[in-house]
Amino acid sequence: GLESVGQLLIASATGRAKGTRIKVLRELLGFEVGSIMDYLRNIVELVSPAEEVDLADLIKRLEGGTLVFVSKELGISEAKRITEYLNSRGIKAAIANSRKPLEWLREGKADVLVGVSTYYGILTRGIDEPLRIYNTVFWGVPKFEFNLESLLTNPRGLAKALYEVSKKGYELGEEEKYLLRAFSRLSPGKLKVLQGGLRGYVELEGYLKELKERTEAIIPKVMNFISRYVAENGKFVTDSYIVVDKGGRLVARIPDVMTYIQASGRCSRLYKGSMTLGLSIVLYHDKDILRIFQRKLKNYVSAYEPKELSKADLEKIEEQQRASRSGKEIGRDVNRIKSALIVVESPTKARTIAKMFGYPGKRYLTEYIAYETVISLGKTVYVATIAPTLGHLLDLTVNEGLHGITKNMRGLTPMYTTIKRCYDCGYQFTEDVDKCPRCGSSRIRNSKRVIEALRKLAQEVDEVFLATDPDDEGEKIAYDVYLVLRPYNSSFKRIEFHEVTRKGFLKALKHPRAINDRRVSAQIVRRVDDRLIGFELSTVLKERLGKYWVGGGRVQTPVLRWIVDRYQEYLRSRGFLVVIKLPGRYRLTYFTKDKEEAEEVLKHLSENPVKLTLLKTEVRDINPKPPYTTDTLLSDGIRRLKLSPGKVMRLAQELFELGLITYHRTDSTHVSSTGIEIAKEYLKAVGKEAEIHPRGWGAEGTHECIRPTKPVSNLDDVEDSGFTLFNNFTWYHKRLYDLIFRRFIASQMRPAKVEEGLYLADLGRVSIEVKIPVRIIEAGFTQIDPILTLPNLYGKEEILIQPEEVKLIKASEVRLFTASDVIRLMKEKEIGRPSTYAKAVENNMRHGYVIASKRLLYLIPTKLGMEVADLVSKYYPELASIKATREMEDLLDLVREGKLSRHTALVLLLSDVIRIRYGERLMKMHEEGEGIKVEAAGEAATEA
Ligand SMILES: [Zn+2]
Repeated sequence: GLESVGQLLIASATGRAKGTRIKVLRELLGFEVGSIMDYLRNIVELVSPAEEVDLADLIKRLEGGTLVFVSKELGISEAKRITEYLNSRGIKAAIANSRKPLEWLREGKADVLVGVSTYYGILTRGIDEPLRIYNTVFWGVPKFEFNLESLLTNPRGLAKALYEVSKKGYELGEEEKYLLRAFSRLSPGKLKVLQGGLRGYVELEGYLKELKERTEAIIPKVMNFISRYVAENGKFVTDSYIVVDKGGRLVARIPDVMTYIQASGRCSRLYKGSMTLGLSIVLYHDKDILRIFQRKLKNYVSAYEPKELSKADLEKIEEQQRASRSGKEIGRDVNRIKSALIVVESPTKARTIAKMFGYPGKRYLTEYIAYETVISLGKTVYVATIAPTLGHLLDLTVNEGLHGITKNMRGLTPMYTTIKRCYDCGYQFTEDVDKCPRCGSSRIRNSKRVIEALRKLAQEVDEVFLATDPDDEGEKIAYDVYLVLRPYNSSFKRIEFHEVTRKGFLKALKHPRAINDRRVSAQIVRRVDDRLIGFELSTVLKERLGKYWVGGGRVQTPVLRWIVDRYQEYLRSRGFLVVIKLPGRYRLTYFTKDKEEAEEVLKHLSENPVKLTLLKTEVRDINPKPPYTTDTLLSDGIRRLKLSPGKVMRLAQELFELGLITYHRTDSTHVSSTGIEIAKEYLKAVGKEAEIHPRGWGAEGTHECIRPTKPVSNLDDVEDSGFTLFNNFTWYHKRLYDLIFRRFIASQMRPAKVEEGLYLADLGRVSIEVKIPVRIIEAGFTQIDPILTLPNLYGKEEILIQPEEVKLIKASEVRLFTASDVIRLMKEKEIGRPSTYAKAVENNMRHGYVIASKRLLYLIPTKLGMEVADLVSKYYPELASIKATREMEDLLDLVREGKLSRHTALVLLLSDVIRIRYGERLMKMHEEGEGIKVEAAGEAATEA
């Protein structure tokens, strides 16, 4: 039940029979108790250089019992030395090498226990004495230590090391760059296999074998560089580890924050409903290790604010320590502990949220892993379970009514049911069948299983938070979760955040709201429209073309028309293009339909340079572009990274779920004050403070532009879990993030001043006018988002330039569309939305109507695509029209604004279906030479 969660937590702190209770918790609730409890901390954290402190003097000043943790590399002998020293100074200290000394501490026969700081040590985990243990003292930062070689035989470790050595003067050659690229494109599984090969555990073949050999050639070079560096500088410091020479052997030392959290947690325990105040002191021997340790620790314990020991008021701390153990405060200033279920869509998002509050506990359910963490919000502490829905839970059924729409006493009702997905072919369907309708496989995942798991979780908690994505689709998923969980819990809150960061999440948690019915309705209407148009159109197209895989859709079909029209225009305007590559990546082009003329220009330029004559110059202020919205991000992702629209959206979704960018489905260019601060912070850090020029880019609405959530320019610098040294980003994640980052930072920088020349370019038989930027007078934002210039031209009235290359290609005056052009057009004609841009293009490709050229991603219609486009234009001109599609979006806006009921919208949609059916009849009758019967329309209406 709900109450028992809190009660069990409190009972577990009495210090008796706790083993059984923890077992009960784990068995009944699936809780990993230890891991979560560690984050409920109430600890004053102090640091000091070890050499400035006499351990005995320090301990004599402290109140209550103390645990001393000796850093692992110093070993048990150091622990013994310390114990003997403390004894010699009259302190009752003992080595904690068995359970016996723990009893001495309990009975007051010992005041100090000394041990080595390891994660599974007796001192670290086996002691729960809130009234006896006041302090933990760390002799050296807890750390791991291992051979540098084993770090470098991990491909990600090598990649990280290459990045670090390059910052210290190691020249990255072609071979190193090749390896870095190759590693970043390997899947995590393949990386593991390669690592096995490098360490001699597995025999590799083919590409991986080649990669292994090339890697083995580089490792000694990196080893040598680091070895020399350590010999000269004493140590090699990176942002996550340091390398030192330990008796002729190079070892890497990595702070062990998990052990620190566990061990220091011994001085702050749950006692009579609140946490006792602990004091934890880290005495460090190496400032660099301390710095890395503190940065990593902040990822887990966000409240970590260490002070210097020499400046701390120990007496005051001791007074508070005593008070927190007196039990007098109970009932006054106590945190309320509540349990909560937080539902999101994806496992990645669940993990990102869980990790913001410390290393999460895991809970293994039949379908997936849920995460457990502790979230403090004001006086409330949530013991939270974070679970994903794995996408949509419900979809329109096909079995009932007209494509899932039924008519009853209350009017039209869309009927929803659980979603089934085929593990083998990926097909998604709603029919209740044992075998996949497409491939016949019986390996099917039913969202019913997820619903059952969520129900089990919902039953155990005080509150359910619906934390799905901030748009109509997310609202609908939240609504579905509410529908299926309603019988199992009575408290539901919707929280909406545009970035998966601690700040964004806590703000949302502080301001929960009810589910927005109008947004849910808009999404339902969109889905019904998709279904109706899709099914009806497919049925008709199948009959007409005699093919079974043809389909169509609301936005998809006008987009197909554009692509077909553009292609036909392209064919009509074919000719020849002379491409002249100038130095500095600059290109001039000349198009003509006259083959002879084109060949003459080619001949002239292969014998003569291009003569440029200055006509006039102009100095212009160029402003940076606004930050990305969905359509502009798609355009650049497609054009510059040569990715498909779907791939761009998937990468952006992952970056969002990993907490690295704001929500990627947005129409807004607006930058919040948080965003402006991030740009400022970054520009200050790179010494470009003078270039800061904050811009809000439009009024604040519910959404924001797509921007980074951290002032970090390179994903390689993003700290991942802290448990893994290296992150998992692919080359594409990095490139897309780079685009987003540059575009955003540039949008917060001063304009550039550029001198542009208008030139007459003499190409022999013909001349053309071209505008070329020749000089950047004030760099402004171009320092981050560069523009191409030809500086050689500056100050010259006339110049001869030898082209690097001239070629003649068959081309057209009209360029074929790329997906990028089509998306821009959808935005311009207002027929798409951030949620549909990519789908409209991808669906045409999936249906085999359109293919993309390999190199430039030009969209070319297939024969089938042209047939479908013609058929739709001929018989259903309205459906394919931009007007009808825009009207549909307007309809959805009205529903979203509450100006039109869901029911009325559905009635309007059904009339479209009637038109399609009626159109079909009209066509048949026309072919059969019959007149039009008025009843036909009426009949169709009854059917619907
Ligand atoms: Zn299948």
